[in-house]
Amino acid sequence: MSEHNPFEAMQARLRSAAALFGLDDDLFRVFMAPSRTMIVSLPVSMDDGHWEVFTGYRVQHNLARGPAKGGIRYDMGVTLDEVKALAAWMTWKCAVVDVPFGGGKGGIVCDPSKMSSAELERLTRRYIAEIMDVIGPDRDVPAPDVGTNAQTMAWVLDTYAMHVRRTDNAVVTGKPISLGGSLGRDAATGRGVQIVAVKAMQRLGRQLDGATVAVQGFGNVGSHSARLLHESGARVIAVSDIRGAIKNANGLDMPALLEHVAATKSVFGFAGSEPLDPTELLTQEVDILVPAALENQITEANAAAIRAKVIVEGANGPTTPEADPILLENGVLVVPDILANAGGVTVSYFEWVQNRQGFYWREREVNERLIEYMEHAFESTFATTDKYKTNPRLGAYILALDRVSRVMRHRGFYA
Ligand code: NAD
Repeated sequence: MSEHNPFEAMQARLRSAAALFGLDDDLFRVFMAPSRTMIVSLPVSMDDGHWEVFTGYRVQHNLARGPAKGGIRYDMGVTLDEVKALAAWMTWKCAVVDVPFGGGKGGIVCDPSKMSSAELERLTRRYIAEIMDVIGPDRDVPAPDVGTNAQTMAWVLDTYAMHVRRTDNAVVTGKPISLGGSLGRDAATGRGVQIVAVKAMQRLGRQLDGATVAVQGFGNVGSHSARLLHESGARVIAVSDIRGAIKNANGLDMPALLEHVAATKSVFGFAGSEPLDPTELLTQEVDILVPAALENQITEANAAAIRAKVIVEGANGPTTPEADPILLENGVLVVPDILANAGGVTVSYFEWVQNRQGFYWREREVNERLIEYMEHAFESTFATTDKYKTNPRLGAYILALDRVSRVMRHRGFYA
C-alpha cells in the first residue's frame, strides 16, 4: 500500500470485510471503484483582480440505496483519492445508520483561511455551477465538511436555485436554520460521538461520568464532542487544533474554553491550561480518545503508544489499516468512523425529510430521534461484530455491505 492513501485504506478494509462476509466477487469489484468521478477546473476572480484556477472534485461512490450524500471539503490536502475514500465511507456510513442515501463527497484544493468571504463565495458558486448536472435533492445532496460551514451551504442553495429557477432547499443540508436547516444539525456529529461513547463505556462496564477524555481537532466535530462529553460528566483533559494542543489534568473548563475559541479561533493560549506537544495528545492516558481532525493520525508509528481504553473516531479515516491490529492486540475498543461520526449524516437526513415535508421539528425531537438511530446502529454493529467474531470496524463494514448488496441484488444490473 502506498504511504497512507485513504482510498487504499478503504479498499483494504472492504477486502477484509468482503472475505469474512462471503461477498461475491462481482459486487466486490463494483464496490472497489466509485460509480462517478468529476474533476472540475474553477477559475475565480480574486479580490486583488488576478484570477486563480482551483481544482474541485465531486465523487459518487454508490447510489443503490438513494441519492448520494456527503460533505464538501475545502483544504490544501484534498486529493482525488481522498474524496473517493470519503465518498465510499459515506456509502457505508449511510447503510450503518440505515438512512436512504448512497455515498458522495466533494472537495476543492484551497486554503479557506487565506481567502476572503467574497472569494470563498465566488469559488463555491463556480464549483456548484460546474457540478450542477449531478447534484439535486434526488441525485446528490452536499453538506459541510472540513473548511466549509452553514454559510457555504447557503451559497450552494442559492446557486442551485438560480440555475433551476426555483428554491428547493432539500438540495443541501447543514444550511442555516433560516433557509430550512434543521435544529440540532450543527452539533449532531458531536452528539453522535457522545451517544456512542456512552454505549462503548457501557460495554466496558463503565460510565461516562468521571471518565477522562482527549480530543484531537476542535472544529465542528471536536468542539461539540468535547462540550457534550463534558456535559455528560466526563473530564476533558486535553484538546488540540491546527495551532497546538493544551492540557489540564483536572479537566478543562469547557464553557471558558469555548469562549476563548470564539474570541481567538484557537484552543491555544487558553488561560486555564498548559501547552502540550501535539504529538502527545493521542497518547494521553485517558479513558476515551476522540480523533476529530483529519485522516491518518493513528498509524503503525504511534498505535502501540496509545493508552486510551476507547477510541471514538469522530474524524473520517483517522486510523490506518496498519494501526488496526496493534490497537486490537492492546485491547483498545475502537468505535469506527462509519458508526461513530454518523450523527451528522443522520440529522442531515432529518433535515432533508423536514425540507421535503415542509414541516419542521423541535430540537428535542431531532435529538431524541438521533439517539434512537445511533443506539440502534451501535447495537446492530456490535451484533454483527459478535456474529462474525471480528472487530467492530469490520463488523460495521459487514453490516453496511449486507445492506447495500441486498439492495443491489434486488435492483439488478442495467446493461
Ligand atoms: P472543521 O474544519 O470544522 O475542524 C477541523 C479541526 O481540525 C480544526 O479545529 C482544525 O484546526 C483541526 N486540525 C486540522 N489539522 C489538525 C492537526 N494536524 N492536528 C490537530 N488538529 C487539526 O472540520 P469538521 O467538520 O469538524 O471535520 C473534522 C473531521 O470529522 C473530518 O474528518 C470530517 O470528515 C469528519 N466529519 C465531519 C462531519 C461534520 O458534520 N462536520 C461529519 C462526519 C465526519
